[in-house]
Amino acid sequence: MSGIIETAPSCLDAGEPGLLHEATALSRILAQCVRVSEAESVPLTAAHGRVLAEDVIAPLDVPPRDNSAMDGYALRLQDVSETEGTVLRLAGRALAGSPYGHALQVGECVRIMTGAPVPEGADAVVIQEQASERDGLVYLNPGHRHGQNIRRCGEDLRAGSVVLERGRRIKPADLGLIASLGIADARVFRRPRVVLFSTGDELCPLGDVPRSGQIYDSNRYSLRGLLDGHPVDTLDLGIVPDDPKRLRQVLEESTRSGDIVISTGGVSVGEADHVKRVLEELGEVSFWKIAIKPGRPLAFGTLGPGTLFFGLPGNPVAAMVTFVRFVRPALERIAGLAPRNPLTFEVPCVHALRKVPGRTEFQRGRLQPDAQGRLRVEVTGRQGSGILHSMSQADCLIVLEHDRGPVAEGEMVTVQPLPGWT
Ligand code: AMP
Ligand code: MG
Repeated sequence: MSGIIETAPSCLDAGEPGLLHEATALSRILAQCVRVSEAESVPLTAAHGRVLAEDVIAPLDVPPRDNSAMDGYALRLQDVSETEGTVLRLAGRALAGSPYGHALQVGECVRIMTGAPVPEGADAVVIQEQASERDGLVYLNPGHRHGQNIRRCGEDLRAGSVVLERGRRIKPADLGLIASLGIADARVFRRPRVVLFSTGDELCPLGDVPRSGQIYDSNRYSLRGLLDGHPVDTLDLGIVPDDPKRLRQVLEESTRSGDIVISTGGVSVGEADHVKRVLEELGEVSFWKIAIKPGRPLAFGTLGPGTLFFGLPGNPVAAMVTFVRFVRPALERIAGLAPRNPLTFEVPCVHALRKVPGRTEFQRGRLQPDAQGRLRVEVTGRQGSGILHSMSQADCLIVLEHDRGPVAEGEMVTVQPLPGWT
């Protein structure tokens, strides 16, 4: 048995000895997570969602030169009266991609379009709505400022500056930002390899007709959906029966190919004995009872060098909640993401909720604006850990903290958005 479990403090206030505080479980898990070390270069078109393995440093200024923010006339302010109308001579045109090419002389202006380089000597652009052009002359009203309607060289990105930091997950705007620097490839961490399977003699694969007492395997599908949101490669091994020999084979194979192995089912007391034995033989795995609802049983540890194992509970909602609360932060750490707390915020709860201090509870919630457009949360329906329908209706978890008691109607509660909530 690993040293992990022996040193686990129990939650004395939980009314049940040996329960592990959620935060303790998470910090133990994170302490075992080692970031993948290998990096690779991928074209920008394949970089969305990947994790930067190096800082992106700007090789040039963006924009590379002063350019016009509007369609209008580029001019020298010193040629324009501050108090009355001015007439300037139209000397030429500047288009995006086709500069004027000369310095402005006294009394001249240039027709300029959005994105066109500002000619040398010009220090303001007057928009076309505030000017009129006739017979090669441009008539202007007074009241212009230095630098107006000019986008300055380097005002978006400065050459030499760190534009994006290592450990950042690349977002759509980041792709554009990197492209604006003329960089065609991103240096990213290798995607961690996740091996996934379900355990249980009662599980029937999709496409088969369930035998008496069988149910369809749903966990693998919700977990595949959750994994899709992460920069990982998933190997799905399907359903593994409650058979120690077969389980051993599958785990040995998983250890060879995976950085992280995720199974569901077979970790609660009673049926878990052979799973436990196999896991103990293959690695250092602890069976935790965590002070959370749903999702109390969780197996966690290492299988051989460098492979983490998560044995999630079989109940469909418990499997998803434990993924969101424990597996996801671990995956992020291993994938090389900079550590961060999950996004949570507080909103009033529409209902009163029952809650006992001594464990962290999660209810499935839906965020709804009230008549004034302020967000509040309501519970989506029956909360049994096998009721997947209320999870499907939910866009967030209502997180009722460990020490918290019952919630009164209208009281503020913490919510954590679920993947796919927008
Ligand atoms: P277990 O954790 O194996 O004791 O399973 C707890 C409950 O979850 C039982 O009712 C199982 O039938 C159910 N269950 C386990 N695995 C799955 C699965 N992959 N899909 C749907 N339900 C499951
Ligand atoms: Mg089972």
